[in-house]
Amino acid sequence: MRYISTRGEAPALGFEDVLLTGLATDGGLYVPESLPHFSLEEIRSWRGLPYAELAYKVMCPFVEDAIPADDFRKMLDETYSVFSHQAVAPLVQLDTNEWVMELFRGPTLAFKDFALQLLGRLLDYVLEKRNQHVVIMGATSGDTGSAAIEGCRRCEHVDIFILHPHQRVSEVQRRQMTTVQGDNIHNIAVKGNFDDCQRMVKESFGNQSFLGGKTQLAAVNSINWARIMAQIVYYFQASLALGGPDRSMAFSVPTGNFGDIFAGYLAKKMGLPISQLVIATNRNDILHRFMSGNKYEQHQLEHTLSPSMDIMVSSNFERLLFDLHGRDGAAVKALLENAAKGPVSIEDYRWKHARKLFDSDAVDDKTTCDTIRDVYGQNEYLLDPHTAIGVRAARNCRRDSAVPMITLGTAHPAKFPDAIAESGLSVKPQLPAHMADLFEREERYTVLDNNVSEVQGFIAKHWKNA
Ligand SMILES: *Cc1c(COP(=O)(O)O)cnc(C)c1O
Repeated sequence: MRYISTRGEAPALGFEDVLLTGLATDGGLYVPESLPHFSLEEIRSWRGLPYAELAYKVMCPFVEDAIPADDFRKMLDETYSVFSHQAVAPLVQLDTNEWVMELFRGPTLAFKDFALQLLGRLLDYVLEKRNQHVVIMGATSGDTGSAAIEGCRRCEHVDIFILHPHQRVSEVQRRQMTTVQGDNIHNIAVKGNFDDCQRMVKESFGNQSFLGGKTQLAAVNSINWARIMAQIVYYFQASLALGGPDRSMAFSVPTGNFGDIFAGYLAKKMGLPISQLVIATNRNDILHRFMSGNKYEQHQLEHTLSPSMDIMVSSNFERLLFDLHGRDGAAVKALLENAAKGPVSIEDYRWKHARKLFDSDAVDDKTTCDTIRDVYGQNEYLLDPHTAIGVRAARNCRRDSAVPMITLGTAHPAKFPDAIAESGLSVKPQLPAHMADLFEREERYTVLDNNVSEVQGFIAKHWKNA
C-alpha cells in the first residue's frame, strides 16, 4: 500500500514512512492511494471475532508487508488487552434502536486510546527494526497529551515531551499526564496558554537544529494516518454486533478535527453498509456551517463544556476535500491556501455530494447539559458532554427509525465533572476502579518559561541519549 499527499506534490510513501511522518512536505496529509474493499460475505464471516482479531482483518491491507502478520497480530492483542472491558468497545442501549458505543474503556478514558495505544507500539516496532530513535513533541490542552503519553510509556525508541499550559488544564487531565512514570516521559508546563505551546511545537518542527542531528522529531497529532486507520475498526465492530452487514447502520460522531468521523466515511467506502453519518459539533461549528451553507470560514475560538472539540479549523477535513475534488491535489492546495485568507466555497455539485455523505448539527452548552439531564432521567445513564452532543445530534438528524443509530461515546463522564454539575444533576461521576487513586499518585512535571529556547534546551538535555 502506498500513501499519497492531499496536495499532490510530496513523494508517495510506504506505511513505515507514513507512520513516522506528520505533514507531507507539501503541507498536505497522507491518504492511501487506494482503499481496500471488503465484500458483504467477507464482512459477515468476521461476526463474533474478538476485537483484536477484527482489527487485524480491517487493518492488514493498510499495513501489508511492513509488519509480518504474526507480529501485527501480537501487537493488536497487546494493544486491546489494556482496555477495561472484554468487548473493548461495548454498546449500551439508550432507546429502541438507539445506542452509545463506549469508546472510553482505555487507559485515559477517551477514544483516543484506540489509536494511540496502537501508534506507540507501531512506532517502537518500526524504530527497533531501523535502529532509530525519535523524540515526540506535542502540545495539549487535555486529552491528546495523556493518551499519547500512555501510548508511549513502554516504547524504548521514543522519548515523549508534552507541553501543556501551566495551570490551565483540568486537574484530572493534568494528573493523567503527570502521574505516568517512565524515563522516556517528560511533561512540561509552560507559563503561557495553549497557543503558546502549539507555536513552540510548530517552530521546533520547522527547525530541529536544537537536537544536534542526533535524533529527530515525530508527531502523534490527529493527522497521523495510523490514528485514522485504527479508528475504522470500531465501525465494523458495532455494525457486526447489531446485525450488520445485513442491515445498514447510522452513526453520530462528536467531531473536532474530523478524524473520528472520517474513519467512519472510510469504513463505508470499504464496504460496510452505513446509511447515515452525522457530524456533531459544539459551538465551534465550522463543519456544520460548511455543510449547511457551503462556506468554510474560521470564526473565533469559543471555550465550551466539550473542550476536546474546541477547534477553529478542522485539520482532517482536508482528507475529505481531496475526495470531493476527485483527488486533485492542486485543487485542494489552491482551496486551502485561500481558506487561510478568508471564507471559501466549493463548486455546488461537489458540496451537494458532501451533503449526501453527511448530515450535521451544532449543539450549544445549554442543549448539551439538557441532553445529559434528559438521558440520565430516562436511563440513569451518564453521558460526558462530548457524547451528549453526539446523542443530541443523532436525535435531531435521524432519518429512519428502523436503522440502528449509534453515537460514538468519546469520553468517560468522570473526565468532565463540571459539565455534569452544570447540567443540574447531583450525581458525581466516579472514576473507574483502575484510576480511583489518581489523586494520590505522585506527579512529575517541569515548569518552564514561555520561551522556545528554554523548552528546546530542556528537550536537548533530557532525551534518552542526550
Ligand atoms: C478528540 C476528541 C473528540 C474529537 O475527535 P476528532 O477526531 O478530532 O473529531 C471528541 N471527543 C473527545 C472526548 C475527544 O477527546
